[in-house]
Amino acid sequence: MLHKFPSIINSSRIKTLNPYISLSRFSAKVGFDSLNQPSAQNNVAIFWDLDNKPPNSFPPFEAAVKLKTAASSFGVVRSMVAYANQHSFSHVPKFVREQRRERKLLNQLENKGVIKSIEPYICKVCGRRFYTNEKLVNHFKQIHEREHQKRLNQIESARGSRRVKLVGKYSMKMDKYKYAARDVLTPKVGYGLADELKRAGFWVGTVLNRPQAADVALRDHMVDVMDRRKAECLVLVSDDSDFVGILKEAKLRCLKTVVVGDADDGALKRVADAGFSWTEILMGNAKKEAVSVVGKWKDRDILKRLEWTYNPEVERKLNGSEDMFDDESEDQDFDNTDHENSCDYMLKGDSGAWWELDTESDADPSELQ
Ligand SMILES: [Zn+2]
Repeated sequence: MLHKFPSIINSSRIKTLNPYISLSRFSAKVGFDSLNQPSAQNNVAIFWDLDNKPPNSFPPFEAAVKLKTAASSFGVVRSMVAYANQHSFSHVPKFVREQRRERKLLNQLENKGVIKSIEPYICKVCGRRFYTNEKLVNHFKQIHEREHQKRLNQIESARGSRRVKLVGKYSMKMDKYKYAARDVLTPKVGYGLADELKRAGFWVGTVLNRPQAADVALRDHMVDVMDRRKAECLVLVSDDSDFVGILKEAKLRCLKTVVVGDADDGALKRVADAGFSWTEILMGNAKKEAVSVVGKWKDRDILKRLEWTYNPEVERKLNGSEDMFDDESEDQDFDNTDHENSCDYMLKGDSGAWWELDTESDADPSELQ
């Protein structure tokens, strides 16, 4: 009486004895297949509250790269934004001040000939060697900084296609200069936080020195990303409980949320799906943890799809008739191991046919355990 089957399961690939199993197996299969597709489901967006969580004693570029690496365990990182007020960008942290003081002292000793560097100081633009750091710095300023300024002026005064040509012509040299200057020159403002984050691929936003200004800007940006459905997973770097609302909003919209902060039992981490400490990110320990988090998310997604594909109407019809079993299909191709959900359906279903089947067929009952 195969005509009683709905057309969807009247297919040659479903050969199991129990229609219960065949249907639930079918739905599970749909879930697994769609998971394997590299779909747009795992776009990740990083939001960094720099006022609340500055990279501190870790160099900003490296901190940013580590953060991106950790976030990429959750999917493809599509956007990275960092906000801070002007003060955060102009501020020079204590460890940088100490480094500068130390360098100054070393310079003095070198100039007096008290100490001598084992390796010469090499100019990363032209390759010239110097025995003291101060000579390198002077050379760099007199030759390369001047050249760089000249190029900038030329580009600045050019218009239209000439400007485009100049930018193209100088881009390599300017990159080389910027790369070298980072080690030689002291930034005029701050310690290069914004530039270093940009170099790591972050979009950096500066807000006015008002309390909460960065929070508001960051929240607006998060809402925008959610509205445009640009990401399915939000990674927030902050310990500021003002973000609890936006995380809850993200969860309502079925987005995954990850928080990076140092407050172990902070309000944000209680709301988010996963939480990491800043140290875990910097040490590169977050990756392993992320794998298990992603695994849980996948399980959750599969369960969701099973709920959606479960059709009580169809199930009831199938359950009603006993003579729809096809006894020739004893070589069932189901195995209980990777479809635990199928088992659930089986056990929950109040089907006498299932037991009948067990005794009448010569299938080894142990296979069904
Ligand atoms: Zn040089």
